[in-house]
Amino acid sequence: MSDPLLSVRDLEKHYPLTEGILNRQVGSVRAVDGVSFDLAAGETLGLVGESGCGKSTAATAALRLEEPTGGTVLFDGDDVTAFDDSELKRFRREAQLIFQDPTSSFDPRMSVGESVTEALRVHGISDRARRRAVGEDLLERVGLAAEDYDRYPHEFSGGQRQRIAVARALVVNPRLVVADEPVSALDVSVKSAVLDLLADLQAEFGIAMVFISHDLSVVREVADRVAVMYLGEIVEMAPTERLFEAPEHPYTEALLSAIPQPDPDAPARTIQLSGSVPSASDPPSGCRFHTRCPKAIQPATVDLTQETWRRVLDARERIAGDDVDVAAVRELRAPAGDDGTALGTAETAAALREEFDLPDPVDDPAVETAVTEALSALADGDREGALAALSETVTTPCEVHEPTRQSVAGSPGHDVACHLRHPPSGVRVPDDERRVGDADGPSEP
Ligand code: ADP
Ligand code: MG
Repeated sequence: MSDPLLSVRDLEKHYPLTEGILNRQVGSVRAVDGVSFDLAAGETLGLVGESGCGKSTAATAALRLEEPTGGTVLFDGDDVTAFDDSELKRFRREAQLIFQDPTSSFDPRMSVGESVTEALRVHGISDRARRRAVGEDLLERVGLAAEDYDRYPHEFSGGQRQRIAVARALVVNPRLVVADEPVSALDVSVKSAVLDLLADLQAEFGIAMVFISHDLSVVREVADRVAVMYLGEIVEMAPTERLFEAPEHPYTEALLSAIPQPDPDAPARTIQLSGSVPSASDPPSGCRFHTRCPKAIQPATVDLTQETWRRVLDARERIAGDDVDVAAVRELRAPAGDDGTALGTAETAAALREEFDLPDPVDDPAVETAVTEALSALADGDREGALAALSETVTTPCEVHEPTRQSVAGSPGHDVACHLRHPPSGVRVPDDERRVGDADGPSEP
């Protein structure tokens, strides 16, 4: 890409995590933790990921609506993070933000026309008639009527209000629009009309757009390229069709599998992710997705079905997170009327094995030995001992090495941060995950 309009490098936004009445800082929420991307003039980049992964924060930090805590943002080659007040004012005009819910961003006492043209007034266009002419023209362009200029926000539907928000963003001739879930609050029936409108206007005015959504099917309609975010990081980026047809990251695969199929008879193939999204204040080591990844790599010494391996890892995660109620598991196993306190270690361990959905035995001697020992320790209330028993054998290279985004061979503009695709030296990738043309071993020199 020659001279991108927007160039974001290692963008970080960490919020202080405070505690107590003195607001003592006890840590930080790493909402955005090293995000990089380029955006060409007129291009649309989709930013997707589960709620809470840092999409909105990435947008507000890139636009300096909030101060980033790290990284650089270049707009047309200029360092946004170094802008003084007047440069920032100009930048705010050139880069507009559209929110999910325009209702709350309209002053109910201002007419629609006044709202749409307010920026003109702020930026020194004092001629009322001129402002009105611009405003009426824009209202028509977004599919409303010039007469709507004098009406008030409450007189409009959600879809119409979003059109007004679009008009308000366009009034200052922006070169960049960041649209944060712009159609997520709208009915299906008006969703695509607003999307079409955005696409038309963007093409007409040559505006670059960052389009944020948790809804991949929406992103597919509008974006030229897509960036997938997980826990404050971009894990994969590709031209839109490529991402949908040949995703490389297991997280992207899982997101895509969750899109409802238009054909109700098509077999459901949703990939269930284990566990929940970890906290951004204490992200997992190595690959942040390893705690939930269905494809977390097995150490070279282990040979299990991937499903069983994932279950063993899940058991470890739950023990580590103190997310297993041994007393309740025991009580469930005990005869009716008994609270289970009399249940022996072996029986409790067996009950825990069922709770974790682990086969008996696990089909790998070393892992089985570790699991047996861990379950016994856990049955005896020794959580630390259980973790220690697992620590040697039940470990994935994915939690050790931190993946970086690297280009995908043979797929221009496509990069991914996953050890399956770019294994660190010594890490063995399962045969069915090898890509055509992959060398037998690490791809890096
Ligand atoms: P998304 O837009 O993808 O849903 P956000 O950018 O809103 O995600 O949030 C990312 C993370 O940052 C979340 O864990 C959220 O709780 C946290 N966060 C957002 N704003 C603040 C804030 N002002 N203070 C502390 N944490 C915040
Ligand atoms: Mg958001």
